[in-house]
Amino acid sequence: MKTVHIIDALEAVQAAILANESQIESLDRAIGDGDHFINVRRGCDVLMAMRDELAPLAPGAAFGKIGLKLLSTIGGASGPLISSFFIAMGKTLAGIDEPERRQFAAAFADGVEAIKSRGKADLGEKTMLDVLIPVSRLLQRLAEENTPLPQVCEQLTAEAHRNMLATRDMTATKGRASFLGERALGHIDPGSKTCEVAITAVCDTWKEIA
Ligand code: ADP
Ligand code: MG
Repeated sequence: MKTVHIIDALEAVQAAILANESQIESLDRAIGDGDHFINVRRGCDVLMAMRDELAPLAPGAAFGKIGLKLLSTIGGASGPLISSFFIAMGKTLAGIDEPERRQFAAAFADGVEAIKSRGKADLGEKTMLDVLIPVSRLLQRLAEENTPLPQVCEQLTAEAHRNMLATRDMTATKGRASFLGERALGHIDPGSKTCEVAITAVCDTWKEIA
């Protein structure tokens, strides 16, 4: 994986987030405070403006820079969480010019661990982790098994989709939705939707990488 692939993925994520504006917005209006889409869009915009700055960096350094930038731009509960994901990925990939699939999978897992420890949350709490944890586990398994990339992307997209939908039937024990108790039932978690949209966009972009 090269930094140019990361930049391509960021562009695809931005487009996908914009295309899903109304759903992401209405989910956070239903069980949050309605700012999640704006928070995430601000993050996407700022990363797009950094393209030239990121291009000469190795992937680890690029992820580190992305994480620091997002810390000061996204805001909300999700800002520090998403930022910690990229910072942890950057640390794991530091000094590796062109990470291989297993190294990327390990970095992704470290990113997810960083979100878990920063948010003091785990599976089943109706947060973005309900998408990220299963996707990370599957990514690691498929990387170990050397599964061809198009199949990896297809399976990760399906896993993200299934687990995003599953948050509909959960009550929240973390984040703003936890104040709603059973009233959060029947609504998908906005952070899970954002992650599913982003993972799908990255998979669509990366499935053709040699
Ligand atoms: P805020 O809740 O401060 O308004 P956002 O609306 O940007 O922040 O983000 C809300 C999303 O953040 C939720 O949908 C959920 O997925 C995620 N989230 C909230 N708290 C946590 C946590 N402790 N751990 C992991 N994710 C969380
Ligand atoms: Mg919110």
